[in-house]
Amino acid sequence: MDSYDVLIIGGGGAGFTAAIYTSRAKLKTLLLEKLTPGGQIALTDVVENYPGFPEGVTGADISQRMEEQAKKYGTQIGYEEVTSIAKKGERFEAATNKGSHSAKAVILAAGASFRTLGVPREKELTGRGVSYCATCDGAFFKGKNIIVIGGGDSALQEGLFLTRFVNHLDVVHRRDQLRASPILQERARENSKIGFIWDTVVTAIEGDQKVKGVRLKNVKTGKERPYPTDGVFVFIGHDPSTGFLKNFVAFDDKGYVKTDERLRTSVLGVFAAGEVRSGAVKQLVSACGEGCEAALEAQAYLEQLELAAHTKGGGG
Ligand code: NAP
Repeated sequence: MDSYDVLIIGGGGAGFTAAIYTSRAKLKTLLLEKLTPGGQIALTDVVENYPGFPEGVTGADISQRMEEQAKKYGTQIGYEEVTSIAKKGERFEAATNKGSHSAKAVILAAGASFRTLGVPREKELTGRGVSYCATCDGAFFKGKNIIVIGGGDSALQEGLFLTRFVNHLDVVHRRDQLRASPILQERARENSKIGFIWDTVVTAIEGDQKVKGVRLKNVKTGKERPYPTDGVFVFIGHDPSTGFLKNFVAFDDKGYVKTDERLRTSVLGVFAAGEVRSGAVKQLVSACGEGCEAALEAQAYLEQLELAAHTKGGGG
């Protein structure tokens, strides 16, 4: 089993920033990411609120640059999925789908994954008209009529991106007020390709080989109706990616990892940063900030460990 000073789980903004800091501090660092570099940000069309990019930067570009920067300072990156983690003596051992790794300190930065609707035929029609990623699938909907589900920043930002391709899209939202930031609301309301269907949820998706329509239910009147559409884009928030952490650290009541103000989890030597952390504000810039903080805390923890080992060694 290979052995590191710091193991970082998750390759989004928090994980890569932590890796840049620990690697520059000459700590032997392994970052594990289960999918692609950047995490959720890699699936985002454009990031407009990360300081230093007045014209915005694409999610793919900033993700690739973060990975390059971490590699430049010596971070080892593994595209592996962590399945469990445990403390063995003084070290932590993480099992993955490809093997196992050991480290003296761990930074949890696994982020969150998108929610699904859980309605009939959603699973079967995923990739056949149902999508959770506008940048991945938008181009397949050229000239089509689609719906976008959700009322938050993701729904509007990704919906606005989709107007480059589609003929028309309806934002289907379960309330009559959007959660999204005012600037995105303004842009969406001004876009002639976007309509809104308020107080409405999707109860089923219809179609055999591909999406033909949905069933819409008005939550105020209880009335249900069929609604023809070529595509269904779902942006209804995220759940923390913490399945592999069961019985390892403490969580809040929504399943996010609890930390103190120094980003220390309930387990000594394990830190958490970014969207996986209870109380995180879920922005790229804050995830990066937390990644930096967690790295500095991990560095301080390792210095303490070393000092304690020397003292013990010197006294014995
Ligand atoms: P979100 O803010 O949690 O919004 C989720 C939306 O989906 C809400 O409008 C919610 O309705 C709706 N929803 C939740 N469960 C639903 C269900 N089962 N059926 C139907 N609708 C459902 O999630 P998000 O938009 O993905 O954003 C996540 C975080 O990332 C936020 O903090 C956001 O600010 C941030 N973000 C920022 C940007 C940006 O700054 N440009 C872009 C993307 C995301 P209710 O409103 O009724 O709860």
